[in-house]
Amino acid sequence: MTTTRTKAARIRRVHADGTTCDHQVHPRTGQPKDPSSGCTGRTGYSAHCPGCGQTITHDLRVVVSEALKYRHHHNA
Ligand SMILES: [Zn+2]
Ligand SMILES: [Zn+2]
Repeated sequence: MTTTRTKAARIRRVHADGTTCDHQVHPRTGQPKDPSSGCTGRTGYSAHCPGCGQTITHDLRVVVSEALKYRHHHNA
């Protein structure tokens, strides 16, 4: 049986400058929970498309995940 399934891409949280945010942030505001963490605040989400290598970035997580699911179709 052959199932064509795109590998689930990991969606990262990113800062305004595009760097990965691994800090504890408030889910709604994106503001850092710990002011001493050096976090500038989470402003968006980014994912690396496993199909074409393109990076998709948006301030809404759902947009990134839908772009990966629907807008990005690869018949590799
Ligand atoms: Zn951060
Ligand atoms: Zn792609």
